[in-house]
Amino acid sequence: MILVLGKGTTREEVERLKDILRSEGHMVKEIGGVEERVLGIVGKTPRESAYYESLPGVEKAVPISKPYKLVSRELHPAASIIKVGDVSIGGGRLVVVAGPCGVEDRRTTLDIARVVRKHGAVLFRGGAFKPRTSPYAFQGLGEEGLKILSEVREETGLGIVSEMTSPSQADLMMKYVDVVQVGARNMQNFELLKSVGRIGKPVLLKRGLSATIEEWLMSAEYILSEGNDQVILCERGIRTFERYTRNTLDLTAVPVIKKLTHLPIIVDPSHATGIRAKVSPMARASIAAGADGLIVEVHTEPDKALSDGPQSLYPEQFEQLMRDLYVIAPVVGKQLDYAYLDKAAVMRPRRGEGRAPATVAYSGVPGSFSHKACAQFFGTEVPLRNSSSFREVFELVDSEQAAFGVVPVENSLTGSIHENYDLLLEFELKIVGELTLRIKHNLLGQAEATIEGLERIYSHPQVFQQCREYLEKNPGWDLIAFKDTASAVQRVREGGDPKEAAIAGEEDEQFSPMAVLKEGIETNPRNFTRFVVISRNESLPGPQNKSSLIYSVSDKPGALFETLRIFAQNGINIVKLESRPIHSRPWEYLFYVDLETDVTEENRSHILAELLDKTEFFKFLGSYNKGAQV
Ligand code: PEP
Ligand code: MN
Repeated sequence: MILVLGKGTTREEVERLKDILRSEGHMVKEIGGVEERVLGIVGKTPRESAYYESLPGVEKAVPISKPYKLVSRELHPAASIIKVGDVSIGGGRLVVVAGPCGVEDRRTTLDIARVVRKHGAVLFRGGAFKPRTSPYAFQGLGEEGLKILSEVREETGLGIVSEMTSPSQADLMMKYVDVVQVGARNMQNFELLKSVGRIGKPVLLKRGLSATIEEWLMSAEYILSEGNDQVILCERGIRTFERYTRNTLDLTAVPVIKKLTHLPIIVDPSHATGIRAKVSPMARASIAAGADGLIVEVHTEPDKALSDGPQSLYPEQFEQLMRDLYVIAPVVGKQLDYAYLDKAAVMRPRRGEGRAPATVAYSGVPGSFSHKACAQFFGTEVPLRNSSSFREVFELVDSEQAAFGVVPVENSLTGSIHENYDLLLEFELKIVGELTLRIKHNLLGQAEATIEGLERIYSHPQVFQQCREYLEKNPGWDLIAFKDTASAVQRVREGGDPKEAAIAGEEDEQFSPMAVLKEGIETNPRNFTRFVVISRNESLPGPQNKSSLIYSVSDKPGALFETLRIFAQNGINIVKLESRPIHSRPWEYLFYVDLETDVTEENRSHILAELLDKTEFFKFLGSYNKGAQV
């Protein structure tokens, strides 16, 4: 049952109500809505809505229509993010879990861990208890295997995912693992589900061999009903009449699960296909379908693997898959971050050392593209500080009130955001990272609004420009400029008028529970914005493989060419070259250059010296990681 509370309900009234409900044997979950306070309640003997509506503070009681309650989106409309150490599953960053099917020996396991960590995996999976179809097949090393996994965590920092096959292993799981896996064969082992519910660690719940989605969600409900709501669902293929592949990967489960539950879902293309060559295509498709991550079997010597060798990727295949996912992720509004764990280590508040957590500044309001860029670059746990202008972001970073700032510098359709290029020139800050976001614009309005009934549209002027073709089809609309898309959404939400709509990015229930009247109205869907991360003193991990410079040259023939010759002679790829007017000197220009190299590298220092010699003004903006591993 969902209880919607009256608008003016006080904290004390809410607590009193929760006490009453608990004393009647209900589990109570408080859900912070944007506009209203909501309680989700589940009890073994629920009563009629009218009873709940008679309780003090309750305005409306709505029954949950599904047999699963705690896992239902009806009860918890916002997506849940499951934390495993520094890793968040269900946020904007893909989580790739990799490792061998089973832990076989110390050396092989550590070798595999090092290689998957290097290529961007953030959790390590290895079975110590293997539920095998044949009693004569390798059954896993048991506690010895778990000890090896602990060593993996110690050395690589990768959190450990391992399968539990019996409630009697609960103590071992408590001691050694970070995520308890419930395998497909045990999805309906209800005693096991209750036991993992009580362990209280995050659970990876695989879909049963021939389980319906509803049965699968009922199994998740068992775990949540024990008080453990950290469940990650894993689609791993189901048994069908098709025998070519080991199972049939039901990718439809991804969007279906996203609609039915708030829990995150990852996909296991290894057990779904059983064939190495089919794993990467299905992994790519899973991410395109909207999965929050993957669990993939990888082995350094799959031919010698004691289980599931034929479906285990070679390290080179895993590396290539991750590069592909790096490219696909922004298209579906996500990121693959190779420096995920290293970055987290930099950002984690260093308690005890008296250091404040590293705050990140951005311009705009929660829900804006800049806000999304911060969350995708630094994760959802980092303290963010929003400001009202790009200049203020630079000032906050310059005065070290924020360790980092995130600002957009370039859009693939509309070009550079010159204000930020000018600020990069003015302030003595360094670029320490970059990130690309796909910009998809939607028309958002009140639930009862219709496109035909709209009269006024709010958004940023650049957004109107990016949606020109669509807007031209509706010439009667008044376009009202706002300073950013998120404030436009806020304006329309608060106005409550069905004649008004805002154009903004993907709807995020947390910030804007509004109806999508029309999705993807940007003229060109290949619409990406590049953000840079700026800092005064901090640096970020990851190989530095890109550099940005600003310079001017003397007013004589070949002067610019002389600088470009330096790049050509040193085999350096120029990825951006743009001229900007020098404000105080009409018809003179500064050149903004991005290079695909680290110009600060020791054996490249002569390049900087040569450039200094050939330029009149020279400013080095920073060397940083362009995101993809090289
Ligand atoms: C496994 O993850 O190695 C495994 C046995 O998977 P499933 O339970 O999906 O068959
Ligand atoms: Mn396996």
